[in-house]
Amino acid sequence: MSIDFTSTEPLTSNQRVLLQQQEAQQKQAAQIARATGDTRTALTAYFKLIPIQDRLYSIDSLQVAESFAEAGLLLMESGRPDAAEEAYMQVLKVRDDARWGGLGMGERRDAVAAREWMGKAKEGLGKYVEAREVRMRGKDDDVVLCSSSECSKDPLKLSELNQCGGCRCRFYCSTSCQKSDWRRHKRFCQEHGARAKAQINIAGI
Ligand SMILES: [Zn+2]
Ligand SMILES: [Zn+2]
Repeated sequence: MSIDFTSTEPLTSNQRVLLQQQEAQQKQAAQIARATGDTRTALTAYFKLIPIQDRLYSIDSLQVAESFAEAGLLLMESGRPDAAEEAYMQVLKVRDDARWGGLGMGERRDAVAAREWMGKAKEGLGKYVEAREVRMRGKDDDVVLCSSSECSKDPLKLSELNQCGGCRCRFYCSTSCQKSDWRRHKRFCQEHGARAKAQINIAGI
């Protein structure tokens, strides 16, 4: 039995069962590949998983957003911020607040985390003003996330965070988070920080 992924016809119960099996298989394949550090195979599994979940739940579902979020991380690890930006656009469309064009689905923390990931993708593309803007979406609600990927703190008020003085793109909850992120952030900040800061200053944000 084959499934027409372009069809909008409701699924038969047999088709649904088959798709659920395929979903479980691809999820497992992605997990195994990630556990062994095989980014390429993990990405392939997520790109097979997304059309399956689209047919099962719709493209604007939390399940698809979750898969795009995982794929986005792997794309960033693979040095492909352009593709990661596209993946996070779909994540934000589902998770972000209505005033930012999102559907406001899922946990608020996940929406805020998606903004931070999008910020990193935009930095990688040289879109520094957009990187800062997307991170600052939560400033009026006091939900901005620390930019250190090792930080597990809840989203904070903007006034509780310090920005990186080198680039003005990233925000940190503490000097220890800034120090621990420097290993990852150093190259970007040293190569592009001055340009990023100048563009952000001109934009006045
Ligand atoms: Zn910086
Ligand atoms: Zn932190």
